[in-house]
Amino acid sequence: MDFQNTLAYAEQLDREDPLKGYRDAFYFPKVHGKEVIYFTGNSLGLQPKTSQNYVDEIMADWKALAVEGHFHAGKPWWDYHERLAAPLAKIVGARPEEITVMNTLTVNLHLLMVSFYRPTRSRFKILCEEKAFPSDQYMLQSQVRWHGLDPETTIVELKKRPGEHFWRTEDVCSKIEELGDSLALVMIGGVNYYNGQVFDMEAITRAGKAAGAYVGWDLAHAAGNVSLELHDWQVDFAAWCSYKYMNSGPGNASGAFIHEKHLGKTDIPRLEGWWGTSKETRFLMKPEFEPIPTADAWQLSNPSVLSLAPYMASLELFEEAGMPALIEKRDKLTAYLEFILKAIDDEVTSRFEIITPKDRGCQLSVFLHGEGRSLFDYLMQQGVITDWREPNVIRLAPAPFYCRFSDMYRFGQLLKKGILEKAG
Ligand SMILES: *Cc1c(COP(=O)(O)O)cnc(C)c1O
Repeated sequence: MDFQNTLAYAEQLDREDPLKGYRDAFYFPKVHGKEVIYFTGNSLGLQPKTSQNYVDEIMADWKALAVEGHFHAGKPWWDYHERLAAPLAKIVGARPEEITVMNTLTVNLHLLMVSFYRPTRSRFKILCEEKAFPSDQYMLQSQVRWHGLDPETTIVELKKRPGEHFWRTEDVCSKIEELGDSLALVMIGGVNYYNGQVFDMEAITRAGKAAGAYVGWDLAHAAGNVSLELHDWQVDFAAWCSYKYMNSGPGNASGAFIHEKHLGKTDIPRLEGWWGTSKETRFLMKPEFEPIPTADAWQLSNPSVLSLAPYMASLELFEEAGMPALIEKRDKLTAYLEFILKAIDDEVTSRFEIITPKDRGCQLSVFLHGEGRSLFDYLMQQGVITDWREPNVIRLAPAPFYCRFSDMYRFGQLLKKGILEKAG
């Protein structure tokens, strides 16, 4: 594409954007009375204007119906979570029965590890990426110790090649092959939170399955951002949070995927509770657990409907816009941001470097040579919300639902000004 670094050109792209109307479906924070340029949809998505109504609906039903709301609310609470399965299945490439919504992400990864990390004397190793998101590291280490094993000798971290900022699929696959019969689980973040890399989940899952291991993905930065085909790829399990690209609200419920082939089993190791037992007989309060033949068998408690409500509001926007359109805009918007960054970098004579590889979703991670934190602070003061990661990386995620091409242009101008001012 022949992009141009001008406001007129960026505004032209905005006018041609088929998703332009969605910007108005979200609330924006303001700085100096102006809506911010929001680059942190990968950390906490903006609030859809419809979320409040969904929450109010639950509050009103609770007020008017109290316990009767479980069965007689407009959207009855006892199976409220099931309404989220179909739209989520479309987003992650699954069958609705492979999806459940419950707890939060780290909790769900722990629960899924109970089922899919079953170390034996010979097959016990876990392969993950080096410098995984800290919560995933703690989760893996504590699981390993809980099994009486030593994280040092059990967890194998995939390294990047010296001098490179990304992992190569061939290196991941050859490591899997090398570990072979000792490999129990491959567990990686599908989109790396730091460099924005999208792993080749299909190829890596295939390699993991060929080695006889289970394969699970942490999709925190992938769900609602990149194209996923979890069912067809034969992924064993996956989980994601909903408050990043999925705009469901701070700390909100996590989604989990469990492949069809693991459903409907009574003998699978699993931590269980009453919300995982058959709905038909649940209220007979019988002592036997009869697993729901869907991923809901992993549910323990009756869910917090108040938190599912804004998640549902957000999923309706995804239903309406559709992932293919979001992905198409994402690619164009991110490419435009990359173009702007390169143009500015030329003008200020190479002060930064994009470390995100070509296999990417929404996010570009920019490594700053120099300025660092003070530039980040400057941008914040100018109403550009970015995200800072040590040692000196700024992460920019122009979420396609609500970011504009003209925001990319304006950001470029502010970035240039910031760099030149700092350089004095
Ligand atoms: C955001 C994120 C988490 C967050 O976990 P919570 O349990 O929702 O607090 C976990 N893992 C990854 C890779 C993340 O990006």
